[in-house]
Amino acid sequence: MKKTIKDFDLKNKKVIIRCDFNVPIKEGVIIDDNRIIESLETINYAIEQDAKVILLSHLGRIKSEDDKINNSLEPVAQRLGELLKKEIIFSRQTRGKKLETLIDKLNVGDVLLIENTRFEDYPNKLESSNDSGLASYWASLGEIFINDAFGTSHRKHASNVGIASILPSGVGFLIEKELHEIGETIKKPDRPFTVILGGAKVSDKIGVIENLVNIADYIIIGGGMAFTFLKAEGLEVGKSIVDNESIDFCQYILKNHSKKIILPIDIVCGLEIDPNTMVTTKKINELDVDDIGLDIGNESIHLFNDYLERSKTVIWNGPLGLFEIEKFAMGTREIANKIASINITSIIGGGDTAAAVINMGYKNHFTHISTGGGASLEMLEGKELPGIKIINNK
Ligand code: ADP
Ligand code: MG
Repeated sequence: MKKTIKDFDLKNKKVIIRCDFNVPIKEGVIIDDNRIIESLETINYAIEQDAKVILLSHLGRIKSEDDKINNSLEPVAQRLGELLKKEIIFSRQTRGKKLETLIDKLNVGDVLLIENTRFEDYPNKLESSNDSGLASYWASLGEIFINDAFGTSHRKHASNVGIASILPSGVGFLIEKELHEIGETIKKPDRPFTVILGGAKVSDKIGVIENLVNIADYIIIGGGMAFTFLKAEGLEVGKSIVDNESIDFCQYILKNHSKKIILPIDIVCGLEIDPNTMVTTKKINELDVDDIGLDIGNESIHLFNDYLERSKTVIWNGPLGLFEIEKFAMGTREIANKIASINITSIIGGGDTAAAVINMGYKNHFTHISTGGGASLEMLEGKELPGIKIINNK
């Protein structure tokens, strides 16, 4: 078990919390503040414990001086202040005398947000390369370090791994929850344990398949990924998305785990990737050379639902169709609806899958929807994330 924020006496201490405030911002306006909301529990706890709270986060990528204009954390400081009902002290500097003076003046319960850590990436990539000078400087600003930025934990940067290797450190509530929900579930799932995989490409998910095929009882495959498997079985898949370099891998998985792998039996096809294209549903052996498979059909939904009804745990990564076009969102919606209606431990990992089910209104119907896209995928691959590995055990 990793040390958590609760294992430290925070009173009067300068506590650096690495948050994930990497929110979408357009023309200075935050479009989705979910990540800020998710970080409140840890920040509020530190305030209640009379810490002097220092927050770090990245936002976007900084490759030029111009990138700094649209990637300031200032709008985050404002929104965070509204949510915490508290003034947030914002430091425009990521280092230097002005920042140090602001920190010296902090009282217990105060919250200071430092400007985007990735401002240190231009010109020398200091944050992203985990520069030891930068890490020790940031560490020198505080006494305890809490990592709560799950979405960045698969990266080895100065603001997570760097500081954690210097200061006494623990994880915040958000990472603790991700570790519990994803990590513990993969270790000891309530069985039958079903994994649903979709999304565009098999090649993005090879590590996930390799790891989970040994743990899960069933792996249901939909989305674009299904067509590489179907082609590997020798079926005509028309112009559907196929990962030709992954066909050997799919054949290997089908040969060695044939009973576990559940593929679609019918497909919603279009002739173009366009909202106005004509749509036909075809059995899996009926596709023509011109067909593009863009969603799973009704019979596949029924088949997948049968497996879900028999399961006690489900982990889902990857939409089951090209859900961005409403005509091809049915599979994803119906499966989300099914999971919502049965009593099952249900976990979603993957950025697009999380966005899809949240937009469809199922946010509160899953046991856990991960806040980290790439990070949750690496956990599903069975990897230990560097930003979490560096935190000491209890
Ligand atoms: P996640 O971010 O949840 O890990 P991915 O990034 O792997 O998911 O996949 C999401 C993408 O997969 C979506 O943009 C969706 O349109 C696409 N997709 C799903 N099914 C198909 C399909 N049949 N053909 C093409 N693209 C698909
Ligand atoms: Mg994605």
